[in-house]
Amino acid sequence: MLHYQIEFDDYRQHLIHVTARFLADPTQVLSLPSWIPGSYLIREFSKHIESVRAYDEDGRVLQIQKFEKNKWRLFNTDHELITVEYDVYAYDLSVRGAYVDQSRLYVNPACTCLGLEGQEDKAIEVEVFLPAELKHFQIATGLKTKTLVKGRYTLYADNYEQLIDAPFELADQTRFSFEANGIAHEFVVSGKHAMNAQRMQQDIEKICRTEISMFGSAPFKDYTFMTMATGNSYGGLEHPNSTSLITPRDDLPKADEPEEPSKDYQRFLGLCSHEYFHSWLVKFIRPENFVNYDLNKEGYTSLLWIFEGFTSYYDDLILLRSGVINQASYLTLLKAQIDRYLQNPGRFVQSVSESSFDAWVKFYRQDENSNNAGTSYYNKGCLVALCLDLGLRLRGSSLDALMRKLYENAQNGIQVHERTIFELCHTLTGDNWSEQINHLINTTDELPLDQLLPEFGVSFTLKNEKSLALGLKLADKPEGVLIQSARRDGVGAKAGLSANDVIIAIDGLKATTKLIEQYAKQTGSYTVLAFRRDELMQFEVCAMGSDLTEVELKIEDQAKVEKWLKA
Ligand SMILES: [Zn+2]
Repeated sequence: MLHYQIEFDDYRQHLIHVTARFLADPTQVLSLPSWIPGSYLIREFSKHIESVRAYDEDGRVLQIQKFEKNKWRLFNTDHELITVEYDVYAYDLSVRGAYVDQSRLYVNPACTCLGLEGQEDKAIEVEVFLPAELKHFQIATGLKTKTLVKGRYTLYADNYEQLIDAPFELADQTRFSFEANGIAHEFVVSGKHAMNAQRMQQDIEKICRTEISMFGSAPFKDYTFMTMATGNSYGGLEHPNSTSLITPRDDLPKADEPEEPSKDYQRFLGLCSHEYFHSWLVKFIRPENFVNYDLNKEGYTSLLWIFEGFTSYYDDLILLRSGVINQASYLTLLKAQIDRYLQNPGRFVQSVSESSFDAWVKFYRQDENSNNAGTSYYNKGCLVALCLDLGLRLRGSSLDALMRKLYENAQNGIQVHERTIFELCHTLTGDNWSEQINHLINTTDELPLDQLLPEFGVSFTLKNEKSLALGLKLADKPEGVLIQSARRDGVGAKAGLSANDVIIAIDGLKATTKLIEQYAKQTGSYTVLAFRRDELMQFEVCAMGSDLTEVELKIEDQAKVEKWLKA
């Protein structure tokens, strides 16, 4: 067995002290993942590992040598009981990192616990020691846990893979538990908040039941939602039987939450629904090459349009089906997805399968050019799922049926490859879907929403009533008008104006967003003065806005709508 001891005595300086004890192989290598499953960016977690030391059974210092960015080697240690100690700097308030201070001790073992190469299958015990003044903290985790005495816990993992996919949190927590389809669930919130727990429980129970019922069973025996309430951070990361969420505290249900959830609360419910859905799709049903992750380097897949896109389609749809939101709210959420797609110039540049493959270098490294050159596999993937669902329903099947097939396959050890969706659509309908699906995922052609939605009683009308002045997204700042982004081929971009430039004057007048908007409606050209870094530059701009396309969805035939939205 591999044993870790985790101490937080230096939490004020955001340090975690880790002691690992194990029987070593002859030349034992220890390593730390470079990324965490579910978050497709090389994070270089090892940059926060400090002062690695090794000792033999008698406490004698052993040589331990770092030989790669995330790897250390011990020498001549055959079957010796070795102790390795180190500190981890933990001040990353994200779902994928580690964070410790007086309010919260949050640990992702992926960035905290060095693994033993060649011994990844060994069972693991993690002993957690709380400082005396934090002994009142409660614990939340998806791992099996034993409380020894107050402030001291033991966590158990079957192997290293399970350990690094199971974060744990110690904090003052608001929590409730419930059963859904016979499965124990725990809902935990920490951080400053005033959540209406009763309302939260009522809604989350419905969501969990709806998702389990859709698949017929769950791939977990128990489930824990861990939520951190903050001012305005947002994020979620899925794990096999838990999820870690960060949400603005205003998104939690209020004491006087209206029957139809507020927009903010809908967003939080959608986040819960999304991460919970991932327990099936991406944790249990996986891309073939995610069955054994290599956490030292990028794990490419061109299938994130399925794993994130389909999940994004279902997250809101489940809210409707579980009765947590009404049909009008659902269509508003869907309209927002479609508008986001229509207003993204990058959809003509990158297909959704390319976007999936390039997650590592593009989607997780957003910059001023991302919207001009990139497609989101969340956003377009969600709309691809909608097209497939409607297309399958026209042929007597549904995306639900396809999801259940994927689940059944995974239960039989068959995971998802490039042709899986093509093949399953064929199996479900008897038709050949090659051309249609290829069109959706491998090209930048417009999605056939305008043809499909009317078949299900919803009219699809495009409008161009709003426009972006000069194709620029602008914000008033004390130093001038900041260009937040410049749409490719917009008049501003064509004149040379770029993201991060600060416009100070237009046609000899002090620039404000309002003035630029007025000028953008006139005809003729004029001079714009802007600072790029600390250099003043002059641009000749021809007035014009750039149209923002949006969709209007109207229900024409409620009976047809129900043929789509009902499970
Ligand atoms: Zn996701």
